[in-house]
Amino acid sequence: MASKVEKDIDVLRQFIEIYCRTKHKDAEKTRYMGVELCSECRETLEYAAHRREVCPLKPKPTCKNCEIHCYKPDQRQRIKEIMRHSGKYVILHGRLDLIYHYLF
Ligand SMILES: [Zn+2]
Repeated sequence: MASKVEKDIDVLRQFIEIYCRTKHKDAEKTRYMGVELCSECRETLEYAAHRREVCPLKPKPTCKNCEIHCYKPDQRQRIKEIMRHSGKYVILHGRLDLIYHYLF
């Protein structure tokens, strides 16, 4: 059974992968934690996964409602941008799936 931490990191991984795939199409990618990422996104994933692992709060609040704000400002900015972009992407695809089910 995956722990809460592992699940959270898996979500981070998927969101960062979507972001990199759609925003950094032409960047050179390397494989990291099972996904293809450019060096910048790889660094963000590494950073975010580590922050998640060392989060002292149990249960962890959403980062927006957290009082610690443990991210460095530049990484915080990056992850916010990634969550916004990939969040929209996921929602859009969720809806597209529904449309496909409906049509076929
Ligand atoms: Zn990238």
